[in-house]
Amino acid sequence: MKELTGLQVFKFGGASVKDAAAILNLFSIVEHSGPGPLVIVVSAMGKTTNALESIFHLAYSGQEYAAELAALTDYHRQVIRNLDSEITTAGKDVEELLAALAQQLASINPREDYDWQYDQTICYGELLATRIVADVVGGQWVDCRTLIKTDENWREGRVDWASSEQNTQQVLTAELAAGPINVVTQGFLGGTADGRTTTLGREGSDYTAAILAYCLRAESVTIWKDVAGLLNADPKLFPNTVRYPEISYRETIEMAYYGASVIHPKTLKPLADRGIPLRVKSFVDPEAPGTLIHDCQHPALAPAFICKPDQCLLSFESKDFAFISEENLEVIFGALAQAKLKINVMQNSAISFSVCTDFSERRVNQLLDILREQFTLHYNTGLTLFTIKNYDTASIKQLTEGKRLLLEQRTRNTFQFVCQ
Ligand code: ASP
Ligand code: MG
Repeated sequence: MKELTGLQVFKFGGASVKDAAAILNLFSIVEHSGPGPLVIVVSAMGKTTNALESIFHLAYSGQEYAAELAALTDYHRQVIRNLDSEITTAGKDVEELLAALAQQLASINPREDYDWQYDQTICYGELLATRIVADVVGGQWVDCRTLIKTDENWREGRVDWASSEQNTQQVLTAELAAGPINVVTQGFLGGTADGRTTTLGREGSDYTAAILAYCLRAESVTIWKDVAGLLNADPKLFPNTVRYPEISYRETIEMAYYGASVIHPKTLKPLADRGIPLRVKSFVDPEAPGTLIHDCQHPALAPAFICKPDQCLLSFESKDFAFISEENLEVIFGALAQAKLKINVMQNSAISFSVCTDFSERRVNQLLDILREQFTLHYNTGLTLFTIKNYDTASIKQLTEGKRLLLEQRTRNTFQFVCQ
């Protein structure tokens, strides 16, 4: 591989491309990125992925979706109009993509796999956003589905590292070595060997940035956010947050795992493997220091408060009141995996076993279908899972006061509870 010295990867999420002003701000950040080559990974604009999800759901269930699709179409056209003097080709590209999206929606078939059709549809958010951004920054648009190869695990594609590394090096090294050009590509998307679209899991664009950085042995990755860096809590939910100026990969992986929404949990591993530092910086204040995540030692950190909404607490009892045995657990875990329900916390007692997962009605019903014969299942929805990492007595008191806890669990560093 040709050496690409000083290569940086920048990732811009939905909020940083939500309108024309945001995209122009992105442009100015890119212009100040320094002389080295730059790979720019972009998510869908604003809340586009949520909108596409609901349109897809309407289409799949045979309901009318024209109004929602029109709103999404207008939103993209409006951004194009507002960027008028900055763009040359994006207007036409966006119209083509919108037409292809409409066609895709019309082809949705409720008798075929939901998750597969989801990926073929939801990808348009990133395809649209990158066409616009590439035009504004004068970057080379690259289809990420040709770079990152995954298996056919729709909506949560598992990366084939060897072929992704080979493709990424081949395609991007050529593009970037050709001159002082930036590459703009989609976050969140991958492709199967036979060219179908996969997605990497919601909020997966951070992961994309890490995959590309890994494959290209980049010098650093920067995630541009609407917050000042990695904070000890979400400022929308907690007052008086503190920013961690520097933090290790390991601490960050754990926070992301517990649901800190600032970074997608899969992002850290590839970066840690190749010792690539990750910066989290504010696109509102690009000069501010942000957070540096790398291999480092640091003293004990301020307690981190992490909140996962929309949780579901499921409990399983074996029908014959037998103890929950290894054999039973094997069946339950198998069924959870099959229904793609991920365990956030679990606990067991003599005759019952409880797990807390993100709620999806469809997936829970699928689970019920699999286990109904063998187990009695109860579940509660609309719950919240709180995690305090590096807790102390004061932080537990502060967070639990006045709440009815349905499940709680404490380890040496972490306190977790589920409540209404
Ligand atoms: N647009 C996708 C989502 O909203 C991916 C991302 O934002 O990282 O989930
Ligand atoms: Mg996002």
